[in-house]
Amino acid sequence: MSTHYDVLGVAQDASTEEIKKAYRKLARKLHPDVNPGEEAAEQFKLVTRAYEVLSDTEKRRNYDATGNENGTGGFGAGGAGAGFGFSDIFEQFFGAGGGQQGPMSRTSRGRDALITATIDLQDAVRGVVYPLEMETAVTCPTCNGSCCRPGTHPVECTICHGRGQVQRPVRSFLGQMMSVETCSACRGYGTTLPSPCNECMGQGRVRQRVSKQLKVPAGVGTGTRIHLAGQGEAGPGGGPAGDLYVEIEVRRHPVFERDGNDLHATLKVPMTAAALGTDISLDTFDGSQTVTVEPGTQSGESVRLAQLGVPRLRGTGRGDLIVTIEVETPTRLDAEQRELLERLAELRGDHVAEGRFEHRGVFSRLRDKLRG
Ligand SMILES: [Zn+2]
Ligand SMILES: [Zn+2]
Repeated sequence: MSTHYDVLGVAQDASTEEIKKAYRKLARKLHPDVNPGEEAAEQFKLVTRAYEVLSDTEKRRNYDATGNENGTGGFGAGGAGAGFGFSDIFEQFFGAGGGQQGPMSRTSRGRDALITATIDLQDAVRGVVYPLEMETAVTCPTCNGSCCRPGTHPVECTICHGRGQVQRPVRSFLGQMMSVETCSACRGYGTTLPSPCNECMGQGRVRQRVSKQLKVPAGVGTGTRIHLAGQGEAGPGGGPAGDLYVEIEVRRHPVFERDGNDLHATLKVPMTAAALGTDISLDTFDGSQTVTVEPGTQSGESVRLAQLGVPRLRGTGRGDLIVTIEVETPTRLDAEQRELLERLAELRGDHVAEGRFEHRGVFSRLRDKLRG
């Protein structure tokens, strides 16, 4: 393995000026514009890499100390050109991204699209066919993606002769060199359109409102994404469509609230019904269901209706429906009701004073004692 000094043909103690001079000389000889062979290109990479390291005081010090470019002793010399990103100097001549060769294609894949579908909780529980309306790009119906008016064809660009790139002389510190640039006449396609399609202006696709019927499975929730491969935007030049993602949003429901796959509801029950027990019918997403309120139910207790919640999106079965009982105490009583409740309180031994329940705490009992 030759060192960077060997590659540039300079001594280990060469000055920066000497290194620069050596690189300039070699680069002129090896630059791909001058010397198009593959071997020269490899050699040019090595030389450029060596120059990069040795012309930078910090990198050179590291290299001298460790014998490699990472500055980590013991890491066997990976060597120049072994997967290192080349610097600006190199990309300037080969173009960023590894030097694209040849013309660009007018055809490419369309973009993915994301839209939101807002559904009711009932539809999330039972599944629904949702009418999607969206603005998207579709392949131009007039030219079928060819970008040309029917009966015409693209022709080779007369400026770059189909290469999509042109060479332009640039002045650099290496002297006069040729830089490769995208051809402005054909914008890099290598062809021009003598008569572009009128409908798509030579793009091969047009914007359109599209409606689709989206099958939403039972069990989806807010944030669930449905993936429709190949149903996104059509690509330019008749390219394949990207994917479509539909993100579900579920509206709040006035009665049922979702928690995972369970549904929660609150049921108001009169005080007497809670005390005596009763059956109450509740409208659910599965029709009318009976909620059995056991005698003596306290406010806040709940009744669980198994398997009446949300179906599991992946897997089988459903969550439960949990009904929380809220006991309602009457706020207004007529004379007869009041009399009956007073009678009940008396029978139960609830302390009633002048029609009011009196809380007999420690202090009142203490007071009674002192009086007595
Ligand atoms: Zn067209
Ligand atoms: Zn061109």
